[in-house]
Amino acid sequence: MFTDIYSPIHQLKHATRNHVLVKRDDLIDPYISGNKWRKLKYILKDVQKKDKNHIVTFGGAFSNHLVATASACARASLKSTAFVRGEEVSNEMLLLCKLFGMNLIFTSRENYKNKTLLFENHFGSDPQAYFVDEGGAGAEAVRGCAEIIAELPQDIDHLFCAAGTGTTAAGLLKGIHQRKLKTQLHVVPVLKGGDFIADEIYKHTGNVDQLVMHTDYHFGGYAKTPPTLIEYIKKFVAAEGMLIDPVYTSKMFFAIDDLNVNNYFNKEDKIIALHTGGLLGIWGMKDKFVY
Ligand SMILES: *Cc1c(COP(=O)(O)O)cnc(C)c1O
Repeated sequence: MFTDIYSPIHQLKHATRNHVLVKRDDLIDPYISGNKWRKLKYILKDVQKKDKNHIVTFGGAFSNHLVATASACARASLKSTAFVRGEEVSNEMLLLCKLFGMNLIFTSRENYKNKTLLFENHFGSDPQAYFVDEGGAGAEAVRGCAEIIAELPQDIDHLFCAAGTGTTAAGLLKGIHQRKLKTQLHVVPVLKGGDFIADEIYKHTGNVDQLVMHTDYHFGGYAKTPPTLIEYIKKFVAAEGMLIDPVYTSKMFFAIDDLNVNNYFNKEDKIIALHTGGLLGIWGMKDKFVY
């Protein structure tokens, strides 16, 4: 299942100044989407290598990672369990998780903080259980994300990605270093105070050369969607025929546009944005889109 992917490169029709290419990882799979597919690839290989049959993971109630894990586990004939942060709720994302057969354990915010303890308490005696951190973070995830670089033109000047934990960004930077490319990696944190993401990246790469952080495009914080962002999404999607999500990729594309308008790039610079998928999340925000 982790072979023969479809992730073409498209060009935006309405970029302001420089052309902007988009690596369409959102098209890899509707449920195991974008960077979550990249992250799960080597996690699932490790699960199979270690002869485990049950993935236990963690996430919020609108987590793209949970849907991706549920779907990947169903296809790989593995059991899946998720500790879901907060009181019991139902929504479109959790419905998909349940449809894919995932077992959900709603967990208070207090207990959720200690993930290893939760795992030990519930599954410590299950030799088949395999711990996967929130968002799929870890060395396997970094390895999977590094592979994206091999699928891009090697003469790109600027590669952009949105960041939550920075795992995807760490993989991309690792790939850039491994291939000794001149590409700069531009990271757009989608939460406030995103400078810590540079430290997270450093933990995985040991070197943050060619990393550029853009910490002013969080729009108020994680999952915050002020009217300017909503209007941007509406215009972008209608003009490009390419869906973007309110939490991650819309903030990245907004940042690229803003930098482009303000002549941040040199005239001939080649720019590519990684579309990390996560498009189902829009159903959790449908009330924001008033027409
Ligand atoms: C999870 C997710 C991210 C964040 O990835 P990190 O590796 O945690 O930085 C970015 N974009 C989308 C669409 C996601 O679902």
